[in-house]
Amino acid sequence: FTTAFAERTVATKALFERAKVTIPGGAGSTARLPRNGWKPYPLFMAEGQGSRLRDVDGNEYIDYLLGLGPMILGHRHPQVTQAVTDAVAELGTCFGLPYELEIEAAEKVVAAVPGIDQVRFTNSGSEAVGTAVRLARATTGRRLIVRFEGHYHGWQDTVYWSNHVDPELAGPIDHPRPVAMGGGVPAELQDTLVVLNWNDPESFIALMETRGHEVAAVLTEPAVFNTGCILPEPGYLELLREQTRKHGALLIFDEVITGFRFARGGAQEWFGVTADLVTYAKGIGGGFPVAAIGGTNEAMRLIADGTYSHSGTYNANVVQCAAVSATMDVLAEPGLYERQRALGNRLARGLEGIATAKGIDAYVEGIGTVFQLWFADRPIRNWRDAAAHAREDIFTRWYEEMIVRGVLFHPLQFENLFVSLVHTDEDIDATLNAAEDALSVVARE
Ligand code: PMP
Repeated sequence: FTTAFAERTVATKALFERAKVTIPGGAGSTARLPRNGWKPYPLFMAEGQGSRLRDVDGNEYIDYLLGLGPMILGHRHPQVTQAVTDAVAELGTCFGLPYELEIEAAEKVVAAVPGIDQVRFTNSGSEAVGTAVRLARATTGRRLIVRFEGHYHGWQDTVYWSNHVDPELAGPIDHPRPVAMGGGVPAELQDTLVVLNWNDPESFIALMETRGHEVAAVLTEPAVFNTGCILPEPGYLELLREQTRKHGALLIFDEVITGFRFARGGAQEWFGVTADLVTYAKGIGGGFPVAAIGGTNEAMRLIADGTYSHSGTYNANVVQCAAVSATMDVLAEPGLYERQRALGNRLARGLEGIATAKGIDAYVEGIGTVFQLWFADRPIRNWRDAAAHAREDIFTRWYEEMIVRGVLFHPLQFENLFVSLVHTDEDIDATLNAAEDALSVVARE
């Protein structure tokens, strides 16, 4: 880390030392610790407003971290903040029973998104995915989940596997072994999973032909945003759809990142392929803590008749439903997504142009409001490519030079840059100016 960073973050450093006494590691999620990129310590924030953040030392940032994704409307969006404040003041927070605002929120989500008839609200993406996986098993009476190396689906035991694995442990890419992402995950669960190389039609067809009758669900990020960004090859999502149908398995799209991100109807709308079950979290509540599992009437049948228990004390509480309802209203503004995708593309192409003009091997992959600048001399098509060829050292230097110029994004290349629906042309201009300087420094090294 740079001296400039240390000089600018004296108050942050003091808070980090204080936090470590009563908060393990000094932060509320392991993803915020120094070992996960936030070196030498995570920035402590004072407040956010729109596309901007201010830290406790008074430094301002144009924010492309967006809370790791949920702040699609920027910080403190007036309409959503007001709706939540009003609902809590007028209704309360939690009944343990249904209420009308919950129906409103569900109706708006179902209307916004193609392919789903019903929705249940819950608290986090991990909960939503855990529910979808268990529901698929209950519905089909089968055990096997097919998933893909490099994807992330939350921290539950059933899916906490094979995100950023050591290739040595996982074995050959045409036949990878499931690898748990941390201690405490029962090894026996390995037999309930098949991990495949994504964007690889042959390995998927071969698996379905031999074991399709055992498969409860195929679980995928419809576009991968947990290994930087890797988009699906044309026809690949269609293949997943066709094969799951053919073999009586469910298709689960984990839209925790893609939902409401670059199109109101998420990846199902953007790619024109619909799944049986879909999970949402980041984005659906405009930054409030809420997630959802949606599905066709058929896929939600066992939840509807009460024989599958999807429970949770805080499911569909007032804060969640007020946030979802107001967020859906804001997202319905005509032209909103077109405008912000164009803005995001200008940033993405601009960054790519600056890097390549300075002789740095780099390219951008993404969809308007979410993308990654890959520092690599060849296309990254899967996790193994990323592990072998993505230049984390260059990315880190770029991050270090940008953060001291007032631009914040995740320090790791395996994450993304998020552009909110309230970022402006001025934000993009300022960011490109900062990148011009920052990448000049990096290119000289
Ligand atoms: N699925 C995907 C695709 C995600 O990106 C994440 C979070 N990064 C999750 C699930 C888990 O969501 P949460 O952190 O809300 O539990």
